[in-house]
Amino acid sequence: MNIEKEKVVSINYTLRNDEGEILDSSEGREPLLYIQGIGNLIPGLEAVLEGKTTGDTIKATIAPADAYGEFNKALISQVPRSQFQGVDNVEVDMQFQAHSEQGDQVVTITNIENDIVTVDGNHPLAGVTLHFDVNVVAVREATKEELEHGHVHGSDGHHHH
Ligand code: ZN
Repeated sequence: MNIEKEKVVSINYTLRNDEGEILDSSEGREPLLYIQGIGNLIPGLEAVLEGKTTGDTIKATIAPADAYGEFNKALISQVPRSQFQGVDNVEVDMQFQAHSEQGDQVVTITNIENDIVTVDGNHPLAGVTLHFDVNVVAVREATKEELEHGHVHGSDGHHHH
């Protein structure tokens, strides 16, 4: 079966940056399961997987625009530490769900100096060119329920939410 919209796809993958460092990998874990064509994966990866089938191996280089977006300086802001009421220890690398007019957004604390906290709303992989090695493990039809939920359910039929 070929990978096309609304098929459930199972892949093993390794993701590297330009320097060849491994950023993420399914090695040692279960393969990644996703539904093709509904935004489960970054657009660039869905595009290269379209039409592939079980057993195929793919090497793909994906530009930031087709991955996690270009790095946007406007998403960096500095806020007083007093805005983090209720957080015991405000530390670099902490992530928060922020609510803004553009919707919910994950922000990361990138610097703390005196009482000024720098937060960055860019995805950690914004501006990064991604190099994927992908092996297609399996392709199957999605169930009606999976399509309604927009995600894959386990082979035991249980929900994984
Ligand atoms: Zn579900």
